[in-house]
Amino acid sequence: MKKIAVYPGSFDPVTYGHLDIAKRATNIFDQLIIAVTSNQSKKTLFSITERVEMLKVVTRNMPKIEVINFDGLLVEFVMEHKAKVIIRGLRAVSDFEYELQMALMNRKLENAVDTAFLMPAEPYTYLSSSVVKEIVSKGGQAAEFVPPFVEQKLRRKFSLTKK
Ligand code: ADP
Repeated sequence: MKKIAVYPGSFDPVTYGHLDIAKRATNIFDQLIIAVTSNQSKKTLFSITERVEMLKVVTRNMPKIEVINFDGLLVEFVMEHKAKVIIRGLRAVSDFEYELQMALMNRKLENAVDTAFLMPAEPYTYLSSSVVKEIVSKGGQAAEFVPPFVEQKLRRKFSLTKK
């Protein structure tokens, strides 16, 4: 049987940290569904269509990955796609409390689904989508943190591209 995992998140936008986790997950699972959340109460810089497009572009050479948008209950999405595992990234202890709460609540909702935490390579432990947005919005370089396609999109969002 194919081992399928789901990696959910807002990916606003996708960073090298997210990709590091996705790559590690594909070393363990046969298929990884990146589930982009569209029902977030928090406001995103990029629309759901833009976030999915960026992920599709930057993972196009990763055949085990599929990118899907979803709203609704994560555990239901996981079961519908015949997966049993949710992947989340852990950067620091500060991520842990929220992630533990989510994992335990998801287990309460669906006991058959487990959450697996993966740690990124060290340089990505202090990287987040918010920090990248902050840097680019102030005119800084983000090439170290996001793929070129994403950096371009960010610059365009903040209208920093020279015509
Ligand atoms: P969410 O709003 O669901 O937290 P994010 O896109 O911020 O969505 O994060 C999705 C997942 O990716 C989370 O598990 C988060 O901890 C993880 N993640 C985000 N950035 C990094 C990074 N730099 N290294 C490892 N994991 C990360």
